[in-house]
Amino acid sequence: MENMLKIAIQKSGRLSEDSINLLQKCGIKINTSLNRLKTEAENFPLEIYFLRDDDIPKYVEDGVADIGIVGENVLFEKNKNVKKALNLGFGKCRLSIALPKDKQYKSIKDLQGLKIATTYTTILSNFLKENKVKAEIHEISGSVEIAPSIGLADAICDLVSSGSTLLSNGLKEVEVVLKSQAVIIQHANLTKAKRVLLEKLFFRINALQTAKNNKYILLNAPNKKLEKICSILPGMKSPTILPLAKKDWSSIHSVINEDEFWDIIEKLKDEGAQGILVVPIEKMII
Ligand code: ATP
Ligand code: ZN
Repeated sequence: MENMLKIAIQKSGRLSEDSINLLQKCGIKINTSLNRLKTEAENFPLEIYFLRDDDIPKYVEDGVADIGIVGENVLFEKNKNVKKALNLGFGKCRLSIALPKDKQYKSIKDLQGLKIATTYTTILSNFLKENKVKAEIHEISGSVEIAPSIGLADAICDLVSSGSTLLSNGLKEVEVVLKSQAVIIQHANLTKAKRVLLEKLFFRINALQTAKNNKYILLNAPNKKLEKICSILPGMKSPTILPLAKKDWSSIHSVINEDEFWDIIEKLKDEGAQGILVVPIEKMII
């Protein structure tokens, strides 16, 4: 069917659950029974392909899928003709160079002449070129972190999140090559009809992301403090004020940003606010 958006997501791996969750939180009903390669959403014109993450950029480039969810690490490594459309904020990790922990390391120049094992040959070779370091890149497809201990390489370039895998393999992280997160990529030339569907999907994702960065706040304050307190609270338009049953007191409701959260709470307390409640917001449309 032409007027159907096709999305490729990772079949099984670190991005699978978050990708499915994202669609479900957008109100899209998906049947996720195991071992499916393809499924259709029940209440949105969306077809979902479950693939290996490495294959997703190519599928999107070719238009077999219209959009896809991959880590930026895969996007940059595959270097296909696709557009990055949206950061998703999950699947955060970094692509780093690590050395055996007893090896001396002062600066990037110490990588000169080393043999570095990686699956990310494109990104690594660009990084080395940019930093004018000549090193040998040894491509391997998995279990990169054991390469130094079995004498296959002097160093590795691999994905890290907590760093515990590096530690348990006697390695130390010395350079961050790339900071990565999951993103939505899109085909370079989508039809008008598909772009309309995509806008609809992005509108929902934006509502989730905005909600995540904001909290709903309720508090009580004496009326004589209202003006001061309202000047601290931004709100979507302005705060809501409701009278309390207790004379000369009001309840104030507003929305505050995660980044300024503690700052605002402290100021509110200083101004005499009481019974402060902070509630997560599920979706937010500005
Ligand atoms: P596939 O079978 O689909 O090829 P994979 O083994 O290549 O799977 P995963 O290990 O599931 O891939 O990782 C998928 C993506 O998750 C990575 O490309 C990266 O963007 C992200 N990620 C987040 N944290 C980590 C981490 N600590 N190690 C590896 N990948 C991570
Ligand atoms: Zn992969």
